[in-house]
Amino acid sequence: TDPARIRNFCIIAHIDHGKSTLADRMLQVTGTVPDREMRAQYLDRMDIERERGITIKSQAVRMHWDADGTAYALNMIDTPGHVDFSYEVSRSLAACEGAILLVDAAQGIEAQTLANLYLAMENDLEIIPVLNKIDLPAADPERVSREIADLIGGNPEDILKVSGKTGAGVEELLDSVVQRIPAPVGDPDAPPRAMIFDSVYDAYRGVVTYVRMIDGKLSPREKVQMMSTGSDHEALEIGVSSPEPTPTKGLAVGEVGYLITGVKDVRQSKVGDTITSKRNPASEALPGYTDPKPMVFSGLYPLDGSDYPVLREALDKLKLEDAALQFEPETSVALGFGFRCGFLGLLHLEIVSERLRREFDLDLIATAPSVIYQVTTDDGKEVTVTNPSEYPDGKIASVREPVVKTAILAPKDYVGAIMELCQSRRGNLMGMEYLGERVELRYSMPLGEIVFDFFDHLKSRTQGYASLDYEPMGDQEADLVKVDILLQGEAVDAFSAIVHRDSAYAYGTMMAERLRKLIPRQQFEVPIQAAIGARVIARETIRAIRKDVLAKCYGGDISRKRKLLEKQKEGKKRMKMVGRVEVPQEAFIAALSGD
Ligand code: GDP
Ligand code: MG
Repeated sequence: TDPARIRNFCIIAHIDHGKSTLADRMLQVTGTVPDREMRAQYLDRMDIERERGITIKSQAVRMHWDADGTAYALNMIDTPGHVDFSYEVSRSLAACEGAILLVDAAQGIEAQTLANLYLAMENDLEIIPVLNKIDLPAADPERVSREIADLIGGNPEDILKVSGKTGAGVEELLDSVVQRIPAPVGDPDAPPRAMIFDSVYDAYRGVVTYVRMIDGKLSPREKVQMMSTGSDHEALEIGVSSPEPTPTKGLAVGEVGYLITGVKDVRQSKVGDTITSKRNPASEALPGYTDPKPMVFSGLYPLDGSDYPVLREALDKLKLEDAALQFEPETSVALGFGFRCGFLGLLHLEIVSERLRREFDLDLIATAPSVIYQVTTDDGKEVTVTNPSEYPDGKIASVREPVVKTAILAPKDYVGAIMELCQSRRGNLMGMEYLGERVELRYSMPLGEIVFDFFDHLKSRTQGYASLDYEPMGDQEADLVKVDILLQGEAVDAFSAIVHRDSAYAYGTMMAERLRKLIPRQQFEVPIQAAIGARVIARETIRAIRKDVLAKCYGGDISRKRKLLEKQKEGKKRMKMVGRVEVPQEAFIAALSGD
C-alpha cells in the first residue's frame, strides 16, 4: 500500500471510557466484521479481559475506509488502559501517527486520560479529542467539552461527539482520522526496521509478533534478526489482521501487521525491540527499548501442597506469553513450598493469580504484596530485599525504598479527604491543579504505601470518584523496620512485614489481634507477639483449654468415639504446625486477606 493511503492510529482513554466498544463499532461500520459475526469487545480475546471488561494485551487491526472517493487502509491499535501496562501503551503509541483521545461524556477527564494524553504528546501524535457515550442520560457534553478544550486548547464546539454504543458519529470520526492524522513517512529503500509493539503467545501458532514497519520492507521466508539480542529467525508468515490473520506478501513502510517466526516464548520477541533483516541489517535500532521491570512482589503458595508441580508448570506456561512475569521457588515455614513472583503492579498480580485459579484450577494463598528495598547493613553489605524474610538480621545502616510520582484526579469536594489519606501514607504534595470541577493532585509517595490497599482507601474516601495513576521516580532513604509476628516465640514468616517505624506498632497490634481471633485455643497458652528484632512491641494471648473431644461422649459408645477421633484427624491434615502450635490453614488465609 502507498504510505499516503495509510493511517495508523490508536484510541487512548481512561479505563471504562469505551475504547473497546468504539473499536467494535469501527469494525462494523467499516465492514471489517460482518454484523452477524459481531460480538461485544471483539478484540479482547482473553476470557478474563472480556469478563472484567479490561484490555490487557493490545491488538492491531486493519480496516478499509473510503474518504473523498479514495480507499484508505486504517490501522487501529487498541491499547491497554491501565497503569500497570503503561510500557505497552507507550509502544503502541510509538507505532502510530495519531490518537483518538476518548473521554466519557458523563465522567469527564480522569487520571489515565491525562497519563495517556501526556504519553501521546511525548510521541508527537496528532490528537483527536472525542466525547463518548453521548447517548447516556447523565452525559454532560458541554461541561466535558470545556474541560477538554481547557486541557489541550481549541474550541469546545469543535470536539466530535460519538456513541460507541449506538454508533452515532462514528463515520464522521473515521473521516476525520483520514483528514487530520498524517500519513506515515519512512525510507522505503533503507534496510528494514520494524518496531515490535506487541507479542502474543498463541497455543497453535506460537508467538505472534505485531510490528510497525518504520523503514524498508520485510518478506515471508526472509531471515530476520532481533536487534536487542542479535538472535535470528525465519519469517514463516507475515500478514495483517483484518481482524482475522491474513497472510500477505510482506510489509512495507508505514504498514502495521504481524510476523510469525516459530519462537515459543515472548521473551525471544520482546515488545519495544527492533526487527531487521539478517542479510541487509540496519545499523541502528529504533529508540525506546526497555525491559519491563517488576515492581511488586508476592509469594504464591498452593493451598494443597501436592499442587506445587502444577503451579510450577502453570507459571512456566504463563511466562511464555507474559515477558514481565518473574518467579522463583521459595519456601515458607507457615505456607510450605511456593514461588516468589514479581509483577508490574497490583492489577498484574491480580490477573496472574486469577488466571492461575481459573485456567489451571489452582487454589492459592498470596502473601501481602511487597516492593524492592535496598538494605545496607552496618558492616557495609548491600542486600536487595523483595521479601521480608530476606531482611538482614543485626544492625542496619540504611534502607532505600522505591518512590512513585502519583497523580490523583477527583471532584474538588474531596481534596481534604485525599490530602489526609496521602499524608498518612507519607506522601509529599508536589502540585495541585484545577480542571473545571475537578482537581489533579500530584504527590510523591513510597510505592510500598500504595501497594498496601491505598487504592481501596482512596476509592472509599471519594465514593469511588477518584482515579489514580503513578510512575516510578527513583528511590529514597526511609526509616523502615521489619516487624515479625511470633507464635510462642517462633516467627511466622508469612506475616513479617517491612513498614515505616511510625506504623510498626499499628501493624503489630493489628496482626496480633487478628491472629488471636483466628487461631483456636490449644492445650497450652500461646503468646502472640509482634517484634522489631528482639524488642517486643505488642502482645496478645490465646488462653489454654483442655481440648478433650471424648469428654463429650458419656458412656461407652465406641463407634461414636471412633468417628470423632477420625474427624479430629481429618481436621489436623489442614493444620500447619508452627513450633508446637497448630494453626488451621484458613487462619493464615484470613489473616493475610485481612478483613
Ligand atoms: P474500555 O475499558 O475503555 O475498553 O471500555 P469498554 O468499551 O469496555 O466500555 C466500558 C463500559 O461502558 C461497558 O459497559 C460499555 O458497554 C459501556 N459503554 C461503552 N461505550 C458506550 C456508549 O457509547 N454509551 C453507553 N451508554 N455505554 C457505553
Ligand atoms: Mg477495553
